Amino acid sequence: MSDNKLNCIGVMTSGGDAPGMNAAVRAVVKTALFYDIDVYAIYHGYQGMLEGGDKIKKMEWGSVGGILHKGGTIIGTARCKEFREREGRLQAAKNLIEKHIDNLVVIGGDGSLTGANLFSEEWPSLVEELLKNDEITKEQAFMHPRLNIVGLVGSIDNDLTGTDMTIGADTALRRISEALDAISSTAASHQRTFVVEVMGRNCGYLALVSALSSGADYVFIPEYPPEQDDWAQALCNKITENKKAGKQKSLIIIAEGAIDKHGNPIKSFEVVEELKNRIHEDARLTILGHVQRGGSPTAFDRYMSTVLGYAAVRHLIDNPDDAESVIIALQKNRVKAIPLMESIRKNQMIPQIISERKFNEAIEMRGGSFKNSLDTFRTLSRAKPNKDAGPKSLNILVMNAGTLAPGMNNAVRTAVKTGIDKGHKIFGVYNGFKGLISDDITPLGWMDVEDWTSTGGAELGTNRKIPDNRDFYEISKNLEKRNIHGLIIIGGFVGYAGAYRLLDKRNEFPAFDMPIVCIPATINNNLPGTVFSIGADTALNSIIEAVDKIKESAVANQRVFVVEVMGCYCGFLAMLSGLATGAERVYVHEKGITLHDLQDDVHLFKNAFMEGRRMGLVVKSEYANKIYTTPFISALYEEDGGEVFDVRQSILGHIQQGGNPSPFDRSLATRMATLGVDHLLKLISDGTKDVVSIGLHGGEFEIFNILDLERKMDVKFERPKEQWWLALEEIVNLFGKSSHSKDQ
Ligand code: ADP
Repeated sequence: MSDNKLNCIGVMTSGGDAPGMNAAVRAVVKTALFYDIDVYAIYHGYQGMLEGGDKIKKMEWGSVGGILHKGGTIIGTARCKEFREREGRLQAAKNLIEKHIDNLVVIGGDGSLTGANLFSEEWPSLVEELLKNDEITKEQAFMHPRLNIVGLVGSIDNDLTGTDMTIGADTALRRISEALDAISSTAASHQRTFVVEVMGRNCGYLALVSALSSGADYVFIPEYPPEQDDWAQALCNKITENKKAGKQKSLIIIAEGAIDKHGNPIKSFEVVEELKNRIHEDARLTILGHVQRGGSPTAFDRYMSTVLGYAAVRHLIDNPDDAESVIIALQKNRVKAIPLMESIRKNQMIPQIISERKFNEAIEMRGGSFKNSLDTFRTLSRAKPNKDAGPKSLNILVMNAGTLAPGMNNAVRTAVKTGIDKGHKIFGVYNGFKGLISDDITPLGWMDVEDWTSTGGAELGTNRKIPDNRDFYEISKNLEKRNIHGLIIIGGFVGYAGAYRLLDKRNEFPAFDMPIVCIPATINNNLPGTVFSIGADTALNSIIEAVDKIKESAVANQRVFVVEVMGCYCGFLAMLSGLATGAERVYVHEKGITLHDLQDDVHLFKNAFMEGRRMGLVVKSEYANKIYTTPFISALYEEDGGEVFDVRQSILGHIQQGGNPSPFDRSLATRMATLGVDHLLKLISDGTKDVVSIGLHGGEFEIFNILDLERKMDVKFERPKEQWWLALEEIVNLFGKSSHSKDQ
């Protein structure tokens, strides 16, 4: 136990529920218990706080078992009118003081957080009044002079400025994406136009990102209304144009709070009517509604909420005398405490700014990632299919390289469309460098790639070959034959290494003297210069879905599962999936494994099982250790576990590379490829022959010269020297190694 001053924390979920709230509650409870702090769950938000009694329940390790994968919130949420009145807050304060709670983690939207802030500001006067009315003792008043608030933003709309993502938004995007995939297949069969309404009264985030990741033709959001006075005609023109270009189906996404440039609402049924009346389009409307809120949280919502819940308790421990209420936010992939009221105030300004039609200001306030997504969508939606290659037309090659990464298709599709729109000729190379050597190269047209948004796999194929020896001669011949001006490689380490070799051979082969842009795409997420590579998020989701099923199979037995995931020497998939599935132990190559560790771990599991635990989970990265392989570790656990628990190993294998890309990977691929083409064209027009890669750093993109990346790379183990996610091991260990833990 630490010598912190904190004795007791309350945790509650309030307002609209959001998938991932359970992970946050679990993390708050476990972190508090780890530091020997009493922790109470307040059931049904402020309503439960007002009612008191058994609505404020002490939590134990077992109270938050088996909840990570559940949607909604197990401690319930509610809206509470009485809490808006001082009288209600007085009663709430009394109930909290009775349980010694003067630290509160509130997980909710901007209403809940505003309420919490007000409550905290009023607290001293509420205590005074309670004392005056003899409802609390002098000692109680003395013991609880202040109420500390830490807020976590739970909102599927991703509508809070100050944090890059809110709890639940990634899952909502996934639900929308699943629905859009289903709608797209029926739309294509009937050559129809679909109008899909998604949530977002003030914030267009869900509509925008789903439009970007589904390749939608049009999007209506509050922050960016159509530029034309007659928006309906502009829309109809676009759909007519699509048809002329041979497009079978069209998809229009509309946020529920969409408006025109004068601030008048645009309703989804109106869009459908206009399409019918003006161009006789058989448009169908789907209003997605509550499915967007439901279902099991995605990997991101599970691990991000876990990290935020942990950080909330740490903030309370580390700042016992800090009277200011804060929000634990995610900014550029880092967790940060920011002043609560300042962000809420800023946030509440956005609807006002929109109503004043200062749309650019509203877009700026939504942050870099929103703006970048909007810019990309605008570029793509303006792109025209039937551009003739002009006299200044360039010849550009696009290829995948390395192992399969879901999202590769989205990147190729975007590169082809933006390249053609800018008047250039785009060639697709089949099967990576192998195809570049064997001349498996074809011009790609607009419609060839039209339907590549939702498909997993790689339509162009991919291959792990890195060119060598005589290959360079063949490649040079094929490039010269087509007078290629630039190359885009979408792939993992193989792609980067291949690009590097072409650069290295420039003296011998003048055809290689051209710019190359590498776009990071590998499920391993082991490339330098980027926080995420395309495909990693989809792989994480495939892993957690598999592990959910594995865990379900274990209800009847006392069992430890040893799950092996991919990643080569990079432990990203293991660490993040371990965090997202509640693994007690994660083994990665970066941290090493010793026999001593393994024995300690078995011992911990044995103790926990003897205290009543029913299941254990270990996630191991495939190359974590040459000697202590998955079968070895499983055998050791089995032997040392004796009669107490049995062991099953599960090597997940290729399911991790399969599946439709997640919305995050689709939008990442789309944004990176748009930037990739732009940058390649700029390099060509500047006469610069750099070989570069694109990287993502918390919503912003950076471009690195590949020569600079070498310094950031651990070449032997094919991974970056510095990896942001390694810091998360502390949390895995904290939750997993506690011998008290009876969590399932
Ligand atoms: P969300 O937190 O999802 O934005 P609401 O706006 O409905 O959801 O807020 C949830 C609850 O938070 C309300 O029912 C109320 O109890 C409390 N609340 C919201 N705004 C305030 C406020 N200004 N003052 C006091 N309590 C508030």
